[in-house]
Amino acid sequence: MATADTTLNCYVYDTTPMREKIAHLNQIMPAGVEVFYAMKANPHPAFLQAAREAGAKGIEIASLGEAEKAVTAGFPAGQLIYTGPGKSSEELRWGVAHGIRTIHIESLTEAHRLQAICTELGKNQDILLRINADFDIHEAQTTFSGGSKKFGIDEEKLADFLPQILALDHLRFRGLHVYAASGVLNVGDLLKNCELVFGMARNIEANHPGTCCDTIDFGGGFGVDYLEEGHDFDPQAYADGLAALIEQYGFGERTFFLELGRYLAADSGWFCTEVLDIKDSRGKKQVICAGGINHFRRPAALAINHPMAIIPMHREKLFPAQEQVRDEAVYFGGPLCTGADKLANNVLMNAVDVGDIAVFGLAGAYGLTMSNLEFLSHERPQEIIL
Ligand SMILES: *Cc1c(COP(=O)(O)O)cnc(C)c1O
Repeated sequence: MATADTTLNCYVYDTTPMREKIAHLNQIMPAGVEVFYAMKANPHPAFLQAAREAGAKGIEIASLGEAEKAVTAGFPAGQLIYTGPGKSSEELRWGVAHGIRTIHIESLTEAHRLQAICTELGKNQDILLRINADFDIHEAQTTFSGGSKKFGIDEEKLADFLPQILALDHLRFRGLHVYAASGVLNVGDLLKNCELVFGMARNIEANHPGTCCDTIDFGGGFGVDYLEEGHDFDPQAYADGLAALIEQYGFGERTFFLELGRYLAADSGWFCTEVLDIKDSRGKKQVICAGGINHFRRPAALAINHPMAIIPMHREKLFPAQEQVRDEAVYFGGPLCTGADKLANNVLMNAVDVGDIAVFGLAGAYGLTMSNLEFLSHERPQEIIL
């Protein structure tokens, strides 16, 4: 019996959708809006190259490693903006020394640490203040503001903290960063965040004469319809709503950052993994694939099924009674020795046979990069660029 020598297990990337999205956003967004790629969604060089070539204003980084990858991909340091709840002295020093565009301050300690580094280097640094706003977007997958959060400075502490930060003479206050939530499909929720941030900027300027929030960063959060329920995020509605708010607040001369990860990258990648085994366990088929949460952790981590398809390979059966799937709801798991190793559950499949390739869509964002790569020491999946 012939068996294949190599087991297929890889990511396939085609960055065309990402390029089209960046170009489209640049075309429809109101004047002053700058689109950054939040590279934690997918740090592969092909995605950074796509961001650069398609006209992203720069890269949102959250570590020194990301900074180095962005620079290697051709982004000058002046096009990097830096957010993250814990930034080390080495990381801050790199940012100041290389002249990155903005550092987004998340606490008083961080402001003082940055001031000390700037003093030492004899340089000034543009900063935004990341605020943990006093509201949240309830439907979102992950919220970054509202309640007790590790992100940013609580909104109600601003009155006390802002004068202290303004007194740090090497930090140049440029404005605010308020990232409400990730994976938001409802444009109205994100626009409500924009409006509340505009109100916050107005209050700050009224209460602290001489300050101007000339740059406002709304973070990321444009969602992706993983469940394919027909709720695609509508960027045109967002652009129109934001334009109306800018007009209403008279903020036409200001700069607005969008740091988008998921929305830009998700539909540019697929995780493809070979079906190694199928068994019937007490009435339900268990489909075992070559890669699991070590290579594609997102479905297990977020408890959702990604859209999927099967590429039939028509392999000969190893023995006549070998199990197969025909028009039934099944479980997909990986090869890892843990019950948490789930790729999908209760997915209705027409036909799956051993040797077929299971393809998981919308895997371009938060795919390999947030997986448990070292767990069980399997080989790293290949990343293939089309
Ligand atoms: C993760 C992250 C983003 C990107 O979020 P998406 O939901 O993927 O758009 C943007 N900004 C910050 C600060 C982040 O942590």
